[in-house]
Amino acid sequence: MSIISDQAPSTKVEPGQLGGPLLATVRQTLAATGTNQAVIDEAVRAVASGQVYQAATVSVKEQNSHAVRPFFDCLDLVINHIVTGTPLTAAREAAEALAAAPAAQAGHHPWCHVDRCKTSRHPDGDVTTEHQGPTHVTALNDGHDTFLLRAELGRDESYADDQPAVFIWAGDEDGLRFNKDALGNAIDSLDTFLDELRHLHRIMTQPCALKTEEQA
Ligand SMILES: [Zn+2]
Repeated sequence: MSIISDQAPSTKVEPGQLGGPLLATVRQTLAATGTNQAVIDEAVRAVASGQVYQAATVSVKEQNSHAVRPFFDCLDLVINHIVTGTPLTAAREAAEALAAAPAAQAGHHPWCHVDRCKTSRHPDGDVTTEHQGPTHVTALNDGHDTFLLRAELGRDESYADDQPAVFIWAGDEDGLRFNKDALGNAIDSLDTFLDELRHLHRIMTQPCALKTEEQA
């Protein structure tokens, strides 16, 4: 029988003990084996850090926080690698796929849907192309009606500002055209708005306090 299994059953945790049963087990098990206090402190700190990570990642996944979720997904792979020795192949391949830009056809961007790009010859002899990129649509449905948000990447060479831009349409309203800086600002605003929506979602089931006799 190992030393650890000899000691584990005797581990007692007082109610409310800092760090909970796992940290108490680590402390007491290592102390029983005569481990140096500095090593015990380091091990306890490592386990506590893991507990903080677990609480954070559960919260991120529950709230489906798009901005930080890939980071936590990546941390999960690295932790799995440290604990089980699972190769980091999947994480490396994902990173390489992101880093390698796809090849572009002559006269087009890598993101072009070339079959939808339109080339025009103008009376002055100029030839310009209206490039069409990916489109993303989100439907907001309240159970009765649907409100569409649509975003599309494109670039019109005939524009004075001949830069790639993302057009965003909300419902039936006219779309807006965002350059890279403007889209970055819009994403920040939407991030804040989503956090605010999550806050409303969390508090919306809070019950109403009883009315006073005067209110009733
Ligand atoms: Zn194109």
